[in-house]
Formats: sequence, C-alpha cells, structure tokens
Amino acid sequence: MTSNSILFENVDWIVTQNPRREILRNKSVYIEDGKIVEIGDSKLDADHIINGRGKVLLPGLINSHTHSSMTLFRGYADDMELNHWLEDKIWPLESKLKPHDCYLGSLLACLEMIRFGITCFNDMYIYVDDIAKAVKEIGLRCFLGEVIFDWNIGKQLPYSDKFTKKWLNDDLITPLVNMHAPYSCSDETLLKLKETADKYNILMHMHVSETEKEVRDFQKTRGKTPVEHLDRLGILNDKLIAVHCNWLTNKDVDIFSRRNCSIVHCPVSNMKLANGRMPPLKRIFEKNIRVGLGTDGCASNNNLDMFEEMKVCSLINKFQERDPTFISAQKALDLVTIEPAKIFEIDNKIGSVEKGKIADLILVDFRKSHLHPVHGKNTIISNLVYSCQGSDVDTTIINGKVLMKDREILGIDEEKIFKEVQRAVEKIISN
Ligand SMILES: [Zn+2]
Repeated sequence: MTSNSILFENVDWIVTQNPRREILRNKSVYIEDGKIVEIGDSKLDADHIINGRGKVLLPGLINSHTHSSMTLFRGYADDMELNHWLEDKIWPLESKLKPHDCYLGSLLACLEMIRFGITCFNDMYIYVDDIAKAVKEIGLRCFLGEVIFDWNIGKQLPYSDKFTKKWLNDDLITPLVNMHAPYSCSDETLLKLKETADKYNILMHMHVSETEKEVRDFQKTRGKTPVEHLDRLGILNDKLIAVHCNWLTNKDVDIFSRRNCSIVHCPVSNMKLANGRMPPLKRIFEKNIRVGLGTDGCASNNNLDMFEEMKVCSLINKFQERDPTFISAQKALDLVTIEPAKIFEIDNKIGSVEKGKIADLILVDFRKSHLHPVHGKNTIISNLVYSCQGSDVDTTIINGKVLMKDREILGIDEEKIFKEVQRAVEKIISN
C-alpha cells in the first residue's frame, strides 16, 4: 500500500532513540512522502491513519549481518562443529544452489524480517542479482554484495562490479564489497576488493577472528593475528565492517579503533557454534568503536529475531564480564537502531524517530500478558529488550510504505512463497 501521508495517532509510547533518548507518551507521528514531518499532538488528516493505542512506536530494527538466503537451510544441520558444519554440510549444499533458490530464500527472509520489525539488513551471499530482486519486490532496505573468496574471484568480481554499478543510486539497496574472511581470501584477493571499494567509495564487510583456530593458525603461519595482518596490508579504514571479532586481542581492538573500523556482534550464532567467547566489548566500547548486532544466517541462529538477539547480547555479555550493569536494555536497543545506522553511514536518514528522517518505523503491540505491567517510561525499554519477541511487532513501515499492518503483510501471498520454498529445498537436497 503506498500512501503519501500516514498518521500514527494516539501512540501510547514513542521510543525516539534521539540523542536525548526521549520517550514520549500519548503522541502522534505524521509522515509525508516517506519522511517524518511532525511528532507531537498532530490532528492532521492523512491518507492512512494507524491507531497506536496500546502500542509502542520505535525506529525499525537494523540487522547488521546476515546471509538472507540461508533461511533455506534452517534446521538442516544443527549441533555441529564450525568447520565440519561448513565443509561437510553447508558448502556442499550451497554449491547446488541456483539463482532462483537464492531469490526464494531471500524472499522468505524478507517476510520473516518484516514480521520481526527489521527494516534494514546487511547481507552477504551469492547470486545477489536475484536477492536484490526479492528485496525490491518486498521493499526492505538492504546493504548487499556478492561474497568473494579466492576460488570465485575470477568469475564473481566482474559480476560484482556490474551489480555495484546497477544499484549505486538506489533508494533501498546499497551495494557493498563482501570479502568472506582473511582465511579464505588471499592478500591479492583482499587488495583487489579494497581497490573496488575505494573506486566506488562503498563499505567493505568481512568475517574476522570468529574462532580461536582462525587466530592461532594465522599466528602460526604469519606470526600475526588476522587484524594485524589486515592492517599491514592496508585494508583497514572507516569503511570496514568486521563481523564476529570474538578472538580480538587488546592490540587488535586498538588497531580497529585507530583505523576507525566498525564491528558487528552476533551472539546467538557465536553461542550456537560454540566460538568460546564473545568479543571484548568493554574495551571495544571504551575505544568508541561503532558496534551493531547481527543474527548471522538462519543455519546458525536459527531465526532472524533481533529482539532475541538484543536479549541474548545483554545476557551473555553480562555473564562473560560478571557485571549485571553491562549492556543495559537501552544499550542493547542502541545496538540495533542508531548505532548501526552510523556503521552504514545513514544515521542522518534512519535509526531514530526524529523530524526529517525517513519513515522506517515499527509498532509493537503491548496489549499482551508478557508485556504488563508498565512501571513508567523505563520499563518500556526493559520490556522491549527482555520481554518482547519479534512476533509482538504489529506494524512495519519502510521508506514511508506500509508493509505490514495488524500482523498482515500487505499484498503478499505468504502460503504460496512457503510452498515454493519447500519445493525448491526438496529439489536441492535430493540432487
Ligand atoms: Zn556470517
């Protein structure tokens, strides 16, 4: 449903995520041509009026790292060691994927994300032309690039280049350079990809220091950690988004800080694959490094619920640091809204509910037993982080377009997509 103007009226609570982290009571938000025009007591008429009674309005959530098409592998290979999981289960299956499979997997992911209030995601996978088609059809905001390893760079670099040129000025899809990891990309590959990022002035996105083995192997063969190695190569700058980072040394954190890199933390995936520890977030925050949260792919999570991710992030890091004050509910919410907006260089456009920003907004229905009572403003954030589930999201709008209202995804036949996904998966597995 497209609409030139939308009014969210009588919203119980508005969690603005503005610099003062204001929470407003019983206010309205008026949107025109995709942008927030007024927050307050607007009585303006609108093409589309959404009643906010009993609900909480907040900025759409940002999933800073995923592999959307991997919804196809949800539940297919669980409870396995990372290398065995990748080499014996995931990679053989991925080698059989056709472009249309990636389209279907991403379509399924987009539906799940809309339902869980994710309005923007950062994606790394193969056949990104087909993923972009799914994302555009559904209407999410997405950072996307073909994943490059040593073995596919010859074929995929020209494909990636063409993709980048095609989407460079799109309002929803932003191309970026996806280098898989320092252990799967040679120095030559990394330097070539850095050159592409420089050429188009776009972001770079890579898995870094996920496992202890990765770091130990690097130290054994090169006498350096992966981060020290990347720094020596000249790859690190403010465009680099490093994902996982569980095994960063203090020196690595200092390098990331000096080079102004960003970090994405994926606690559920790290716990499921038993990576052994979480990134040293205390030091990372002390050094003012930008941090976002990601679900990672559905094969290692196994859903795209950022509410779950926020809660787990807060709990596991309190546990690791033996400090219950660490990663407060407010901090966890920051890591899925305004902080990642800075990573993706769009904090002037999204990440908070403020006048002039693009309307990427969600409504959470608090008329539920597990979200009562409300002890004033502060419980709102606590309830969002510690008590909510993705399925409590009731309405999702992206770029000023209503994609889901009252839990109904508008104009999409979900059952039909489920059936197509099922057929595609059965074919891949039987081949
Ligand atoms: Zn990943």
